Amino acid sequence: MKAIRLRTGKERSLQRRHPWVFEGSIARGSADAGETVRVESAEGQFLGWGAYSPKSQIRVRIWSFDEAQRIDANFFEQRIAKALALRTRLPIASDALRLIHGEADGLPGLIVDRYGDTLVAQFLSAGVERWKTPITDALLAATGLSRLFERSDAQVRELEGLPQQTGWIRGEGGTEIVIAEHQWKLSLDVAEGHKTGYYLDQRDNRKKFADAVAQYGCNTVLNCFSYTGGFSVAALAGGATEVISVDSSAPALARADAHVLLNGFDPALHRALDADVNATLRSMLREGRQFDAIVLDPPKFAPTAAHAERAARAYKDINRLGLMLLKPGGLLFTFSCSGGIPPDLFHKIVAGAGLDANADGFILDRVGATPDHPQTICFPEGEYLKGLLILKS
Ligand code: SAH
Repeated sequence: MKAIRLRTGKERSLQRRHPWVFEGSIARGSADAGETVRVESAEGQFLGWGAYSPKSQIRVRIWSFDEAQRIDANFFEQRIAKALALRTRLPIASDALRLIHGEADGLPGLIVDRYGDTLVAQFLSAGVERWKTPITDALLAATGLSRLFERSDAQVRELEGLPQQTGWIRGEGGTEIVIAEHQWKLSLDVAEGHKTGYYLDQRDNRKKFADAVAQYGCNTVLNCFSYTGGFSVAALAGGATEVISVDSSAPALARADAHVLLNGFDPALHRALDADVNATLRSMLREGRQFDAIVLDPPKFAPTAAHAERAARAYKDINRLGLMLLKPGGLLFTFSCSGGIPPDLFHKIVAGAGLDANADGFILDRVGATPDHPQTICFPEGEYLKGLLILKS
């Protein structure tokens, strides 16, 4: 077994069970992509077993802090069984859920979502790439399913020196799936959709939005960055009478329209607008439009803290425009899925937007991702999605 020796003092984060070893912390040692290595302190003391990644700044991702643990097929079976057992205890109002959430489930770089009878996986680190076959076998055995589609086409693969890869690893057939979420149905194509096909992390926030639309009697709703219209269907379920979905992806909008019909709503209640959100908000403001509720769920403006400043301006701008387009007593449900923007900074950004818009409001709820996308105590990087539900005063 190859050993990776750390520089003096660099063992501390591993001792706190944080699973990453950065390139700059290593004094000596190397291995092949994904190979299991023994990570040691400068004094030679065992710290953990991990997967080596020769191209990545995150040079080792730890599998286990237990010296007696063997990293073999059985190890992956156990980790997967544990993740699945925890999921059975979570309140998940859907037949689609995240089964494996990377580091939070002790499997760095592995994302696995279940959509009905189909598993969709992203292998995003050299370690899980190397163990792909045993991981696939263990996933199918543990779930009793027979189809697993790979969506390893995320950009982070490049940081690991891995080529993009998609397609069926096991099973075959159609990639179009209909899922049941709360009291509505949604469709997706696991081969074509964003990420693994759908944004499962917003499931409970869609329900909160449906409930808030009903509670506050919202009729007109503007759903910005709508993707396939999850929040638009939620608004209609909550009783909205005019819903506009804005997105720059035409296929996503076609699906949003289809979702209105799929759920038995009158298609006249929904309009899909293929446009840039920022330009749309500005032109609606010029036209003097006002809404009872607005959702702002933009893509990641700040993937890391290094992008935070520019991203903060972009978030502030859309939130300012959103607040100006809201009627007094209207609802703003605003999100950031940027890991580089922590919740307190997001709150400050929205506060700045409120000042500029000359608007204030009650924070009715502070929300995060669904519990099947867990944050863990030892891995703060896992926190990414945050949202505020605001009642404009
Ligand atoms: N709210 C959605 C997920 C949104 S993901 C849900 O619940 O499923 C972010 C979306 O923003 C993507 O669909 C992407 O196509 C869209 N997008 C990104 N930049 C945009 C822009 N400038 N204008 C309009 N849409 C944009």
